Amino acid sequence: MSSDNEIIDSIERWCERELRPVAKKFDHADEYPETIVEQMKELGLFGATIDPEYGGLGLSAATYARLVMTIASVWMAPVGIFNSHLIMAACVQRHGTSEQKRRWLPKFASGDIRGGIGLTEPNAGTDLQSIRTTARRDGDSYLINGTKTWITNGVYGSCFGVLVKTDPDAQPRHKGMSMFLCEKGAGFKASKKIRKLGYKSIDSAELVFEDHRVPADQLIGGIEGRGFQQAVGGLELGRINVAARGAGIAAGALRDALRYAQERQTFGKPIAQHQAIQLKLADMATRVEASRLLIEQAARKYDTGERCDLESSMAKLFASEAGVENSLEAMRIFGGYSYSTDFDVERYYRDAPLMCIGEGTNEMQRIIIARQLIERNPL
Ligand SMILES: Cc1cc2nc3c(=O)[nH]c(=O)nc-3n(C[C@H](O)[C@H](O)[C@H](O)COP(=O)(O)OP(=O)(O)OC[C@H]3O[C@@H](n4cnc5c(N)ncnc54)[C@H](O)[C@@H]3O)c2cc1C
Repeated sequence: MSSDNEIIDSIERWCERELRPVAKKFDHADEYPETIVEQMKELGLFGATIDPEYGGLGLSAATYARLVMTIASVWMAPVGIFNSHLIMAACVQRHGTSEQKRRWLPKFASGDIRGGIGLTEPNAGTDLQSIRTTARRDGDSYLINGTKTWITNGVYGSCFGVLVKTDPDAQPRHKGMSMFLCEKGAGFKASKKIRKLGYKSIDSAELVFEDHRVPADQLIGGIEGRGFQQAVGGLELGRINVAARGAGIAAGALRDALRYAQERQTFGKPIAQHQAIQLKLADMATRVEASRLLIEQAARKYDTGERCDLESSMAKLFASEAGVENSLEAMRIFGGYSYSTDFDVERYYRDAPLMCIGEGTNEMQRIIIARQLIERNPL
């Protein structure tokens, strides 16, 4: 069994040897990186957080966050291919019946079945309780109807955790929500791949359900009405992961800018010798370290089972904004060359804003942080 540090070292080597050389090519072609996905399967990334009992690596949140940050510092998009898949797997691992765990988790861990999580709909993202997709009981199965959008791995994935309404009239609304594992087939298909600013190569798609029949034993946990808790229950870990992706982009932008600033000369000296550039580098490095510490703090609490909604929201908010700020500063340091597709900084700049949206927008993180501050500090 490898130690956590050995796992991170091997991921670092893989990033340099395999990922960095092809990132630009796949990103610019917006092409699904099949070869990289096969390698990620071999590295065990599709089972990174799945219990070893089911064939996964069983990594802690702290180690998984380091792994994510390492990969995202080179190219963020491939992280989405296994991370969204692992959110689906975590739903089964945390809330599934024993039979569901035995049936699905080994195939998720090996990457033989891959997929993601279907929550968002055209009319509902932040306000998840207003989703309209329904599942109606029909004998030993359910019939699912509705549309999901922005679903990561929607085209190349085959299985998704899908949030639905089993009782559309329930009050409060979350009591009528359930989560199903749905495999593509009759009545369930990806209708279109969404074109995006960044986060290329990975497929974000609309999923359409038209009388899609799902066996009742694919209702996660086997009891209706628990879907909303199952969906939001994974958010603390989800936020730590998005924070790690933002911090990775921030670190990659710093790394490239630091190198470039020492190579590029103006007025007879490297631009790194101009104080205006030094101020940028100092702020960038400080943001990376602060992000890392916030992520470590949240992940440590998560791993010991302590409540960490405040900490994971702070990490997500700060590190995702750090990704945006550092990628913009790297653009400035690269001058005109930042606009060239020959350099990676333009990709960091396009990829970073997504981290401010996913797993709860940063506006919502601020609201969560403020509510927690008030709750933890009553007069
Ligand atoms: C590339 C990409 C990949 C994605 N992958 C997935 C996926 O795999 N699965 C999935 O289910 N979803 C996915 N999403 C969807 C994502 O989770 C949603 O976009 C996100 O939750 C925000 O929802 P929305 O876009 O509907 O924005 P809205 O909810 O319409 O929000 C719009 C704006 O209003 C603000 N706002 C909303 N409510 C409040 C409030 N109460 N107080 C203050 N401000 C508020 C928001 O912060 C935001 O600024 C993905 C999105 C993208 C762009």
